[in-house]
Amino acid sequence: MRSEEQVRADIVEVGRRLWERGYVASNDGNISVRIDDHRLITTPKNVSKGFMTADMMVVTDLSGKKLSGEREASSELKMHLQVYRDRPDARAVVHAHPPTATGFAVAGIPLDRAVLAEVVTTLGSIPIAEYATPSTDELPQACSKYLKAHDGLLLANHGALAIGPDLFTAYHRMETIEHFAKISLVTRMLGQEHLLSRQEVDRLQGLRGMYGIASPAPVCADDVVTMGPEGQVACQVVQAPESSGRDRLVVDTFDGPTRGSGRFPGLAQMGGDGEIRLTYRELTALIEDAVRNLK
Ligand SMILES: [Zn+2]
Repeated sequence: MRSEEQVRADIVEVGRRLWERGYVASNDGNISVRIDDHRLITTPKNVSKGFMTADMMVVTDLSGKKLSGEREASSELKMHLQVYRDRPDARAVVHAHPPTATGFAVAGIPLDRAVLAEVVTTLGSIPIAEYATPSTDELPQACSKYLKAHDGLLLANHGALAIGPDLFTAYHRMETIEHFAKISLVTRMLGQEHLLSRQEVDRLQGLRGMYGIASPAPVCADDVVTMGPEGQVACQVVQAPESSGRDRLVVDTFDGPTRGSGRFPGLAQMGGDGEIRLTYRELTALIEDAVRNLK
């Protein structure tokens, strides 16, 4: 267990890394660490995360009431409190606006395709919490739907959220989200995306125990999202096609020239049989577009 002093120093360090990596601009972003069953330490309002000092931190209780500190807690503290309510295992929360991941959040494209083995093993998938006005009660509610089943979220038209059993794990998850987003962007620009098969995803998830990675939720069977009793998502959507070959772990979802639609360049896939394949989400978006044009 880290002392309060160490936690303050850790928050300063993580803030510096967020700023240095360009995950935040100006006074964006916020960090919190739960130090016991009743208290957390969080970053203050109106301060660049790259230039904080340990004495700037604010201590609050788990309802957000300030217990000590000269400054005011971040306006997004409510979102952090929601995480601690929904996930008793969470000890730290990092919120930032990393540009590539936030680009996906703005485009409405979740990071849920089985592209990278390491991400499938660690985070699984990163869904998008519906848009809600920052600092209002709506934002924690929008996040709450996904919090029980995910350690990383995109926030529509806003940024990203990572949670963990300690601060550096939460921060590293934020790095993974942005790295995954960058690789996904390059892949889509190149116009080819070979997805891991469903069988390989199952195998990777099976390895979690070996690496000591606790998954908050299993992968949704047949991409059908199941909901928990409180209306929260209870599984992770990971888009991974069934493999047709016996030993094929990677499925060629694309083997023709780039056939990106205007709306999703590089995303629409052309099979070897000349058939254009769209995900359900892409198809829905295209239909909505067409309906709008008709009106
Ligand atoms: Zn924000």
